[in-house]
Amino acid sequence: MTTSRITADVAALRASADQGLARPVAARVTELEALRRGIRTRRRDLQRALAADLGKSATESSVTEIGPVLAEIQTAVKNLRSWTRPERFSPGTLLAPSRGSIVREPLGTALIIAPWNYPVNLTLSPLVAAIAGGNTVLLKPSELAPATSRVIRSLIEEHLDPAWVRVVEGAVEETTHLLAERFDIIFYTGNASVGRIVARAAAEHLTPTVLELGGKSPVFVDEGTDLAIAARRIVWGKFTNAGQTCVAPDYLMATPATLEALVPELREAVREMYGRNPMRSADYGRIVSERHFDRLRSLVDDDLAVVGGTAGADRRQRYLAPTILAGASWDHPVMAEEIFGPILPLLPVEGPAEAIARINAGEKPLTAYVFSPSHEVEERFAEQTSSGSLALGLTLAHLGTTAMPFGGVGESGHGAYHGKAGFEAFTHAKPIVRKPLRPDTLRTIYPPYRAPRRRI
Ligand code: NAD
Repeated sequence: MTTSRITADVAALRASADQGLARPVAARVTELEALRRGIRTRRRDLQRALAADLGKSATESSVTEIGPVLAEIQTAVKNLRSWTRPERFSPGTLLAPSRGSIVREPLGTALIIAPWNYPVNLTLSPLVAAIAGGNTVLLKPSELAPATSRVIRSLIEEHLDPAWVRVVEGAVEETTHLLAERFDIIFYTGNASVGRIVARAAAEHLTPTVLELGGKSPVFVDEGTDLAIAARRIVWGKFTNAGQTCVAPDYLMATPATLEALVPELREAVREMYGRNPMRSADYGRIVSERHFDRLRSLVDDDLAVVGGTAGADRRQRYLAPTILAGASWDHPVMAEEIFGPILPLLPVEGPAEAIARINAGEKPLTAYVFSPSHEVEERFAEQTSSGSLALGLTLAHLGTTAMPFGGVGESGHGAYHGKAGFEAFTHAKPIVRKPLRPDTLRTIYPPYRAPRRRI
């Protein structure tokens, strides 16, 4: 795509935002319903594309990709009128008599840059929030999920108004052109090094950003936890989408005794979900690219593998077995950065205090997970660690609710979305204060402030 075409697309979207096309609430609802129709009509194409790009099963695609977008649409359509209603406030005695309200104003034209790992959900859920907020939108799907990117583009072109939403497909070159344009908000999901590129480009135009990044999301399993249930919840959260999930448990900490008891439960949970040979399981995904496959394979130390390992790994199919490593040290390469694949290292700690200290020694994660029978231990993690969110007794499934703002903190990003939080991310909270001219109470605060000096 040429630079001039990108510039023309942005200009068209800006013109329609300026003309107020995306402002009327009824029009936003109509556009969201058109998106819903498009997704339903093209559901099979989306599922096929997700299978081609990431080996996702139709069920996993429904649960983690298409379903969540439809839920976002449903929530927005149902609540948009109440979200857009001005919120009254009292400016207080100093300004009395007066009235105040806060209106949620559309930001204008949004740029959404999406990643490859949940290429439907993470492209279209922010789109729902941007439309709900009354913005025109330029969407940039990830080139690393090319089949999905193509279907999304044709779906949008067939079902949505081109004055409202446009799609630019492409990679670094196209995104670089896009980032040189001026937008009113940039919503980026992906890794933190590109996040910095986005933030720098946005600073040039003072454009606000939402950065949905990643990091190493820790799990702590406390003594006395029901290990069979915890193991299933951890295995599911870790190996869904072959571990390529921003909030996937990255590493697991427990005391040596708990780890020893947990390993057989984890092994059993992997076998229950993916069978003896996960390569043959229709429910186990593939690594997105050979580059990522090579990176992940090099992290697997077969001597440490208590589940899986590199035997059976297949570069051509980009298959790497669900793998659990025991006995890796804290300075093992697997602990150097976000794993983002089907490898779970188990690390011994003395107890909650050391687990908390280890979390605090790293960057703030997107999510932290704690499995503990003790409310007091849960509270310690809540108070003494910082993360985008904290999930107690579950992994991953907490993203399934539109009632929870989802986003990172520090190195895992800033800003949040899902449900009302998404609407808020794409709008400006504008206070409006109204004061009648009479009585002229403001006279009391005009200068001169000092009483005139008396002449002696
Ligand atoms: P990716 O490679 O698809 O990149 C994301 C987007 O950035 C793509 O659209 C890509 O075209 C664009 N991009 C890449 N290089 C660029 C450059 N040099 N300049 C401008 N744009 C560029 O996806 P990824 O970054 O590999 O995604 C994985 C990361 O995203 C992980 O760290 C993961 O934790 C994080 N993630 C976060 C969330 C979340 O919601 N917080 C969700 C999914 C993934």
